[in-house]
Amino acid sequence: MSLKPGPVIKLNPGKEQSPLRFHPWVFSGAIKSKTGEISEGDVVEVQDSRGVFLGMGHYQEGTIAVRIFAFKKADIDLKFWKNKLVRAYNMRKKLGLAENPETNVYRLVFAEGDGMPGLIIDFYNGTAVIQTHSIGMHLIKPDLVLALQEIYGNQLKAVYDKSEESMPKLSNIKSTNGLLWGNTETNEVMENGHRFHIDWETGQKTGFFIDQRDSRELLAKYSKDKVVLNTFCYTGGFSIYALAAGAKEVHSVDSSKKAMELTDRNVLLNGFSPVVESAAGTANHISFAEDTFNFFHGKEMKYDVIVLDPPAFAKHQSAKHNAVKGYTKLNAEALKHIKPGGFLFTYSCSQVVDRQLFLGAVMAASIESGRSVRVLHQLSQPADHPRSIFHPEGEYLKGLVLYIE
Ligand code: SAH
Repeated sequence: MSLKPGPVIKLNPGKEQSPLRFHPWVFSGAIKSKTGEISEGDVVEVQDSRGVFLGMGHYQEGTIAVRIFAFKKADIDLKFWKNKLVRAYNMRKKLGLAENPETNVYRLVFAEGDGMPGLIIDFYNGTAVIQTHSIGMHLIKPDLVLALQEIYGNQLKAVYDKSEESMPKLSNIKSTNGLLWGNTETNEVMENGHRFHIDWETGQKTGFFIDQRDSRELLAKYSKDKVVLNTFCYTGGFSIYALAAGAKEVHSVDSSKKAMELTDRNVLLNGFSPVVESAAGTANHISFAEDTFNFFHGKEMKYDVIVLDPPAFAKHQSAKHNAVKGYTKLNAEALKHIKPGGFLFTYSCSQVVDRQLFLGAVMAASIESGRSVRVLHQLSQPADHPRSIFHPEGEYLKGLVLYIE
């Protein structure tokens, strides 16, 4: 193996402990010296203070200076990246996701969880949607496209880049959204036999909240003959599962008009009829383009099952305190609208609000409600969003299913 000497980053004494434990982040404060010319996105070798090899990763200006993707020496080329993608694909196959006629939407690459910090790839029925969060991953997009073509063969129809919003804000290197290869043949995907129209071009994230697949399946088990409220519904994922499971009535709420249009479209696509608020009481499914808090304030109605899946209330540590207060307020509102013997599916996708803190927020809301509240399920992200056991930061989704009397 021919290894050209590349740029080297030496760590301060003691700072080797983190990479020795396979944690993939090197913070800028851990760096003792840099040798060679280093530009953002370059592959660098990380060494301890005495020059012993620790790992290889992408360099970037910022708090996290190196994102390590190899803890052994390797040639970082097309073959290297293809091997990573093959490993990711093989795991999804073992999970029953890849090559499953009932489900053709799944996450192929979940950043650190698949040994590729800074990279997300979601597979949408023939279109791979790439989202890069680092300069290094942005620069290897041509290799990623080639590797995807080799792995999927004629299953792959297009590769779409959705990185305009996700790239580091301070860098001069920018990305634009658009097709990297091929042509999308369809925007329709299937998840557990349910059909969804996905808009990855203008939609949120890569187009669909794939990470709630397992939760949606669980909701279906509790929905038969029930009156279900799905707040922050976006594409209507939870609503479709509830309808298909025989819910008596489903109400979907999202403050975005576009989200409600997507929900209505997906309700239709699955053979149910979407109805707007004016027809309340006459249909199986009713859409409300409204803020969830306003919705709760304006409604006396009580539900058998409520889903609360808000966007991240805190994106940074500084917003943590207010986020916790937000979760308490939201859950307290929902608890006022649940019938005795009802269920609350409540989530937080804020990475900085950990499981314990989220539980505390929901506990505070439960105390405020004065009701008997029991925890039936503690949920997390699904298996196609794995986290390295050495990288606890990779866990972000927390969910609770509560029984309320
Ligand atoms: N549950 C969804 C994903 C939710 S994403 C699914 O399974 O796919 C969060 C959604 O909350 C977005 O669609 C956003 O438009 C909506 N949203 C944000 N703030 C809101 C608010 N205050 N009230 C209602 N919806 C809101």
